[in-house]
Amino acid sequence: MLASAPVTAPSALALLAPLRDDLAAAAVLCDLDGTLAPIAARPQDVELPEEARQLVRRLARRAALVAFISGRSIHELMRIVDVPEIAYAGNHGMEVRRPGTDPAPLPEAAAFRPRIAAFAADWTARLAEHGVWVEDKVVTLSLHSRGARHPRDAGDYLNHVVAPAARDAGLVPTRGRMILEIRPPVRIDKGTAARALLDGVPARLAVSLGDDHTDLDVWRALRALRAEGHLASAVTVGVLGPEVPDEVREGADVLVDGLEGALGALRFLAGDGRPPAGRDTPLRR
Ligand SMILES: [Mg+2]
Repeated sequence: MLASAPVTAPSALALLAPLRDDLAAAAVLCDLDGTLAPIAARPQDVELPEEARQLVRRLARRAALVAFISGRSIHELMRIVDVPEIAYAGNHGMEVRRPGTDPAPLPEAAAFRPRIAAFAADWTARLAEHGVWVEDKVVTLSLHSRGARHPRDAGDYLNHVVAPAARDAGLVPTRGRMILEIRPPVRIDKGTAARALLDGVPARLAVSLGDDHTDLDVWRALRALRAEGHLASAVTVGVLGPEVPDEVREGADVLVDGLEGALGALRFLAGDGRPPAGRDTPLRR
């Protein structure tokens, strides 16, 4: 449950200031695509702006935890972010890398590689006819309709034909923006990734920036950790853009405008003074 009774609208500043003031006790969890990196027509062309990279580096020196949690394969995620001193979770948590360790898939996810590979082999040619590009992320697949000549038709095909076939194959289809993820039937998501990365980390405060359905799993996990007493505070920052789902708008404590707003939140956390350009939004506690 994300929402309880809304109270008066806080500013982004009011919610983020305690983290800025006690960064050593704070965890900063970031999505990449659409949150800190602009969407590109081809996912392999996405780049993290250099200012974001420098802010992440600065935060990593002082915060209890800085992590990127993404649907990308962990190798792609680490290549794009390119900050070795932070933590990463790729493939929605099915691959994890803590600072100073090698990235590795969780064994329960890796066990389904043959089933994932068989599904890719069965569907790649048919998907290509619909303009859908299959990104094989080893423990999951991402089926991209963004590059299709008719993205809406391709999206319908993914949702109404391919998703049921994935279910029949014992896999778990999950919708994203212009994407259908095909995952193994394991209870791993961005939320379990957030829990795993926070485990053993001296963080009492957490902030999560995200823009898509899957980021709601992180937000639910942070709220659960707060309810369980592991966190004193959890702030969820929704990054607005033209494709942002209503659930993200509704689930965020704070909404910021696009990449510039997300950068503003990081700047503020890093101590650069100005509050991010936030929108008033009901506080959910
Ligand atoms: Mg995203």
